[in-house]
Amino acid sequence: MSYPDLRPEIAARMPNLRGRIAANVALADITWFRVGGPAQVLFTPADEADLAYFLAHLSPAYPLAVIGLGSNLLVRSGGVPGVVVRLGRGFSQIAVEPGARIRAGAAVPDLKLARAAAEAGIAGLAFYRGVPGSVGGALRMNAGAHGRETRDVLIEARAVDRSGTIHTLPLAAMRLTYRQGGVPLDFIFSEALFAGTPGAPQAILREMEEVAQYREATQPIRERTGGSTFKNPPGLSAWKLIDEAGCRGLRIGGAKVSQLHCNFLINDGDATAEDIERLGEVVRARVRAASGVNLQWEIIRLGLPTDGRPVGEALAEAYPP
Ligand SMILES: Cc1cc2nc3c(=O)[nH]c(=O)nc-3n(C[C@H](O)[C@H](O)[C@H](O)COP(=O)(O)OP(=O)(O)OC[C@H]3O[C@@H](n4cnc5c(N)ncnc54)[C@H](O)[C@@H]3O)c2cc1C
Repeated sequence: MSYPDLRPEIAARMPNLRGRIAANVALADITWFRVGGPAQVLFTPADEADLAYFLAHLSPAYPLAVIGLGSNLLVRSGGVPGVVVRLGRGFSQIAVEPGARIRAGAAVPDLKLARAAAEAGIAGLAFYRGVPGSVGGALRMNAGAHGRETRDVLIEARAVDRSGTIHTLPLAAMRLTYRQGGVPLDFIFSEALFAGTPGAPQAILREMEEVAQYREATQPIRERTGGSTFKNPPGLSAWKLIDEAGCRGLRIGGAKVSQLHCNFLINDGDATAEDIERLGEVVRARVRAASGVNLQWEIIRLGLPTDGRPVGEALAEAYPP
């Protein structure tokens, strides 16, 4: 499938744009699940000023979405109409600052942030070793692991809003809670300042290695997956509820519930986005029936289904019990 090409209109409105605009870009190629349709426009800004210029001149008629490294995203088969922003090189700077602080562009992979902090003797960010996303995704999702999360180490973030205005948001304004933030969804994070505590680089690098080994042993990190599918309900583990509902290894089309960690869904090779979303909804329905708990998606589902196809809970209703 493909969308009408918006590039001529965008170029006409924005003669001074420096970033890259591409039309009908397959998001399956740049997201972990490797499924889903195209972005009508994929915009890669040259830097923060270019992003602000783009947003200030973008017609309000076009929907706007932003993606990071696609490690927490399920893109639907009908793709994403309007503009998808993806930050690149212009947002990949890292700078160590006094007071065990480190500033990173929103496109920096969390792994690189953890490594740079370790090498600078900044402890407290080693948990990012296990999160395969970018700084931007971590700011939106309040990414966390091993008992720590983004809000424990964040000082402030910068973001560009839909009108092109640049904001500096102190931690409190981010309103970060378990795997979500409170900043409007059309704010695009461009940079963040983190603080840790002074530490010995060798000790921090060892801690990172332990994080990596734990991941390797307990999660299907080499598969096409979106990480934890559902949030842990207060006081409960999503994976246990899924296991108790008999869903470990459950398969629909090319999608399956991981045997290793049953809160992970896997594209086993030829899954469609609909297979994966349906499997998630069937798991939710079975957990609801078994325990009364209504699991909430942690994975962000983006875009439209193929024409006329259902999404969300309707997918489970159409599936034989
Ligand atoms: C194997 C595996 C293990 C994982 N383990 C963990 C874990 O331990 N802890 C954890 O928290 N998560 C984990 N995840 C999920 C995922 O890595 C995190 O949610 C991560 O923060 C997503 O970052 P991303 O750059 O991939 O964002 P994407 O998946 O591309 O996007 C996720 C959300 O962030 C938004 N977003 C991305 N960039 C920006 C930006 N610049 N400005 C505004 N919004 C933005 C998107 O719009 C979307 O809503 C795991 C995923 C996988 C595949």
